Amino acid sequence: MFKKILVANRGEIALRIQRACKELGVKAVMVYSEADRDAKYVRLADEAVCIGPAASAQSYLNMPAIIAAAEVTDAEAIHPGYGFLSENAGFAERVEQSGFQFIGPTPESIRIMGDKVAAKQAMIKAGVPCVPGSDGQLPDDPAAIRRIAKAIGYPVIIKAAGGGGGRGMRVVHTEAALVGAVQMTRGEAQAAFNNPAVYMEKFLLNPRHIEIQILADKHRNAVYLGERDCSMQRRHQKVIEEAPAPGIARRLIERIGERCVAACKKIGYRGAGTFEFLYENGEFYFIEMNTRVQVEHPVTEWITGVDIVRTQIMVAAGEKLPFTQRQIQLKGHAIECRVNAEDPFKFTPSPGRITTWHVPGGPGVRVDSHVYNNYFVPPNYDSMIGKIIVYGDTREQAIARMRTALDETVVEGISSNIALHRELMVDAKFVAGGTNIHYLEKWLSEHPR
Ligand code: ADP
Repeated sequence: MFKKILVANRGEIALRIQRACKELGVKAVMVYSEADRDAKYVRLADEAVCIGPAASAQSYLNMPAIIAAAEVTDAEAIHPGYGFLSENAGFAERVEQSGFQFIGPTPESIRIMGDKVAAKQAMIKAGVPCVPGSDGQLPDDPAAIRRIAKAIGYPVIIKAAGGGGGRGMRVVHTEAALVGAVQMTRGEAQAAFNNPAVYMEKFLLNPRHIEIQILADKHRNAVYLGERDCSMQRRHQKVIEEAPAPGIARRLIERIGERCVAACKKIGYRGAGTFEFLYENGEFYFIEMNTRVQVEHPVTEWITGVDIVRTQIMVAAGEKLPFTQRQIQLKGHAIECRVNAEDPFKFTPSPGRITTWHVPGGPGVRVDSHVYNNYFVPPNYDSMIGKIIVYGDTREQAIARMRTALDETVVEGISSNIALHRELMVDAKFVAGGTNIHYLEKWLSEHPR
């Protein structure tokens, strides 16, 4: 096992990784920007290094500063968390070239999966079903683009090969709008991801977002840890996640889970990863793979009893997975609500000082957050300030516990989306389970403020 790990992230996930390190008896080095100087996990750290000013480009995305911090503190490995540099193959490469272990897959795996066109091609080869679409990236010739769309059938969605975070996508309903939409998406993709390549997929009308969590070691062992349903989304961003997915037959999950495991073995994948699918009419369609720990990992931890972050660290250190597929048993139901510093219905960001932060507790309640009374939410980063996760023997019990947990939660001084979550937890369709990816946006338009 490593003696010292550098955590190249901030906020709740930095604290989550620090906790895993402490439990393993590993020293954690925290890096922080000037805006995060007062974060509690910085004070609780074995060592902490300031890596630059508030702007991410100069701190959490500053590769030389992070690697220098690992050098001066004698860390052996770097955990990238999620977001920031976690899916940057160039960073993983520099980390390894500098003599540190990157806690994640190989740079090559990250590179393939980071290019959604290459990822889809790899998945087709590995026998994972994909959304019908263009064979690779779109050509420049307008007539050829029209032919591809016609063959797929409208509506189609144009997506950036280098896209992420719900950006770089455009739905097209008619041939008249097609070529313009492709050009616009290309322009945006170039500006946002420095890669103008785009591809086309059939736009599925009423799918659910179902994803499979996997863990793999360096000895070609891999397991899947069941599924998560992340269909409650706004602007392609997840708001509520749960596991298992209500109403999907276990044998369907098992079949797709086994495909994912086979694909991991085939591509030599190691570490934690998530295969994201759209699910419609009993079929799964791969959309992308995330080569890192995800925000919603706690719901899986709760129903499987597997500590995903701890296992990431163990397999990065070269240990074998401590369980086999047979030993992974799902039990109960877990739901996560993402707590954001934003207006609950208008979604304008609400950074600032939190005067009161009171978190819920009791049986089956977990709160992952770096926030405390008097914490200042910096305006520079993502608006997520924490996650409330509940567990129940049944989905019904989990929902009941989430309602109580949300009622106990107090966030004052800034706006938070707790009020939105409270309403969703009593919404008849959500309570019934199995809503599709458009449900939340539709609900919001039907509940104007
Ligand atoms: P990102 O990497 O930006 O998260 P994804 O490819 O994972 O992009 O897609 C994000 C979301 O966009 C999906 O969860 C789904 O809501 C929607 N989406 C993506 N592809 C399609 C499609 N072919 N049909 C319908 N919705 C889609």
